[in-house]
Amino acid sequence: MTDTSAVSALLDRIQAPEGSGRDIPDAATREIIGRAPVQTVADLDDAIARAKAAQPAWEALGHAKRSELLLAAADAIDANAEALAQLLSREQGKPLNGPNARFELGACSAWLRTNATTVLEPEVLVDDESLHAELVYKPAGVVGAIGPWNWPLMITIWQIGPSLRMGNTVVAKPSEYTPLSVLAMLAVMNEVLPADVLIGISGDREVGARIASHPDIDKIMFTGSTATGRKIIESSAGNLARLTLELGGNDAGIVLPGTDPSAIAEDLFWGAFINTGQTCAAMKRLYVHDSLYDEVVDALAGIAANVPIGNGLDENNVLGPLQNKQQFDIVSRLVEDAKARGARIVTGGEAAPELGELFYRPTIVADIDNDAALVQEEQFGPALPIIRYSDVDEAFALANAVDVGLGASVWSSDPEAAREAATRMQSGTVWINSHGGLHPMVPFGGVKSSGYGLEFGVAGLKSVAVPQVVSGPGRKA
Ligand code: NAD
Repeated sequence: MTDTSAVSALLDRIQAPEGSGRDIPDAATREIIGRAPVQTVADLDDAIARAKAAQPAWEALGHAKRSELLLAAADAIDANAEALAQLLSREQGKPLNGPNARFELGACSAWLRTNATTVLEPEVLVDDESLHAELVYKPAGVVGAIGPWNWPLMITIWQIGPSLRMGNTVVAKPSEYTPLSVLAMLAVMNEVLPADVLIGISGDREVGARIASHPDIDKIMFTGSTATGRKIIESSAGNLARLTLELGGNDAGIVLPGTDPSAIAEDLFWGAFINTGQTCAAMKRLYVHDSLYDEVVDALAGIAANVPIGNGLDENNVLGPLQNKQQFDIVSRLVEDAKARGARIVTGGEAAPELGELFYRPTIVADIDNDAALVQEEQFGPALPIIRYSDVDEAFALANAVDVGLGASVWSSDPEAAREAATRMQSGTVWINSHGGLHPMVPFGGVKSSGYGLEFGVAGLKSVAVPQVVSGPGRKA
């Protein structure tokens, strides 16, 4: 049941005073749910100065104490999880149930706990008679975390959890579309963290740009579009900040011949439609062998036509609206273009205005050419194009013929054949018989224009550290 008083109490802690700030709408109903503070570049400069001043003491606390505090921060998130999930559901649009808002809160505390307890040991490079050389990892300093609007809480934790664990302090800027839920989660974490170790700053794009160019920012964790990633590379030319860039994707799935469609249909569906398709590593193009094509298309259309969609606070729904008008327009444009090119809309293919302004029916598009914009561009919404192929080599060639490479998947009843085929995909991750599953100890990152740098696990801790070689006399000395 919705406990609006707990959500209001969270909002009261972070929102701008009445008559100021920017109104943030409920993604489903478009009612105003709160006022985001609009902080300025001067506010950002002050936040970075405070984070810089707080860093040495945070580093000096040592791993065991930091770990304890981060575990307490994870407990604080759990204690507020339902209210945060409701705020997230309203602001982002994702339903409470299904792999959505409550799932996202569960992932936040689980990731943070893993970050808090993962150990990054020094690496002994040479240990002989004449030389003992080690690589040790030290905090980078102040990390600037810039996040997107699709999984705003979980991605913020991905950025700040490892950073804090390694002894960095953090200034985090949520997307201007989803600031309230992120600021509320940071406020909850700050109940237990020392002052100025983790500072949230809510502002527009110029605040993001200033983070990237600020002389006292040592590392930038960025998740968002490839276009913005390119701007951050340019902005960071002056401060030489180290970058982790998790950018856009256009993940392909390939269903190999001989696969049982009924065994994979449900997982194919969620691989593409999780968070109403607004997921970086969702399956955005599906290549299906001719021999199974009609069966796979029908199975997916059957699920898409019946999946409960609507206001996220309704416990029955598992898909919601697009988060914002800009994204709604992208999805509509790409589907209309597919129609104009003669592709077959098997189900959906239109908005669902009776549900609200930003709802779009789950859409399956068949008999579509590989060069259609819906295949070649990132739709980031509930519309899956399914491309027919007859030659497996050609399917891999088409899957790889894009300039991005975040995730990919291969589907087969023969796991050996799938494993062999998997590495032909040009992507940071390739899944077998699933798409998009992540684990806090398994590194995640893109290739090509999907960015560079790894998150999660030990590799993720290295990404927010600076290596130092300690070189001394060997055993003989
Ligand atoms: P976006 O690039 O528009 O915005 C992301 C963030 O960057 C926002 O906080 C924004 O305010 C900030 N920003 C904007 N201009 C900036 C600038 N010049 N300098 C610094 N910061 C700036 O992305 P979005 O629309 O919020 O997110 C959707 C995109 O993100 C999709 O392409 C999606 O695939 C990608 N994404 C990738 C991953 C991943 O892990 N690879 C995860 C989620 C989303």
